[in-house]
Amino acid sequence: KKKLVLAMAATMAITSCAVPVLADDAAAEGGKIGISMPTQSLERWNRDGSYLEEQFKAAGYDVELTYSDNETDRQVNDIQNLISDGVNLLVVAAIDGEALNTVMDEAADAGIPVIAYDRLIKSDAVSYYISFDNYTVGTLQGQYVIDTLDLDNAGDKTYNIEFTAGDPADNNAGYFFNGAYDTLKPYLDAGTLNVVSGQTDFDSVATAAWDTQTALERMQNILASYYADGTQLDVALCSNDSTALGVTQAIESDYAGKNDVLITGQDGDEANLANIVDGKQSMTVYKAVANEAVVTLDLAEAMLKGDTIDDSLITNSKWDFDCAYDTESYETSEGHKCPSFLLVPTVVTKDNMKEELVDTGYYTQDDDGYLH
Ligand code: BGC
Repeated sequence: KKKLVLAMAATMAITSCAVPVLADDAAAEGGKIGISMPTQSLERWNRDGSYLEEQFKAAGYDVELTYSDNETDRQVNDIQNLISDGVNLLVVAAIDGEALNTVMDEAADAGIPVIAYDRLIKSDAVSYYISFDNYTVGTLQGQYVIDTLDLDNAGDKTYNIEFTAGDPADNNAGYFFNGAYDTLKPYLDAGTLNVVSGQTDFDSVATAAWDTQTALERMQNILASYYADGTQLDVALCSNDSTALGVTQAIESDYAGKNDVLITGQDGDEANLANIVDGKQSMTVYKAVANEAVVTLDLAEAMLKGDTIDDSLITNSKWDFDCAYDTESYETSEGHKCPSFLLVPTVVTKDNMKEELVDTGYYTQDDDGYLH
């Protein structure tokens, strides 16, 4: 529980020393926070929603939390309702980063500041962006492939790889894919890696809504078309766990060479962690969303207090995790860069799973070794 307990301690400490000086503002009156999450059908957002709700409530705020079933119109509607319910601040993880402009303007007109949570919203009405370093997520996946297959010493050997990326509407998806692709490009160029299907551009490998079944069906088609003759698939580079789950199912059921495929993921979804324990998935890039919630609370409090926000939020904080203040990387429009707080992702494999996920208190491990 170390990280979570410390995170809570940091929260409590900031809350208890901040409250007395907040006489006139929303935080002192126990303001209301509107939290708009994309969907409960993708595992991580359930964790995000409950961590955020827990953190804000513990700090004395009212919370309204909505999930929009991965439907953009519904998210617009949910945010409109939060605005008319008089929330003091919005925390939004967008389903479609380019479809919320109008409702973001409505929030701005109502004087409600917005934090884009995890996924950037392409609206200048967004004040700050909190996420993990999304490009690094992809580079960690790519580097894992390089290290595990020892590609620098591969000689003339060629390894076959297929890519599966995320939802084109999600601003993160391109960063994950590019991080992985750029890292592997020298090996693709040299012929050490080969994409047998030829599908290498983001649009061909993307998965609408990050849907497991969609990823499964695409991989079944690829296996039937390009690998049915016994060609070995060595790597399935999947951007996250919901897509890796479908790809793994396709490989497990349809592919004779299934035991030799290196499969990447991201998030630490329970079914994927079980697959890692069982040797079916090789790694996942874990992002401690509990810490993302801590940064969100601290930033929200600072915004509601009217504090100047810069990297002093990081240097003055009691966080025991790394986070960078970045004013350059993420654009909401041409020329407008969104100040961002970016946390650091970690590679989790069977070997360090207990240390990274169980000893830290994020998950518990049952007698069979599975994490929950
Ligand atoms: C998140 C990933 C997640 C994906 C699908 C992305 O925006 O950053 O952690 O796997 O959405 O839920």
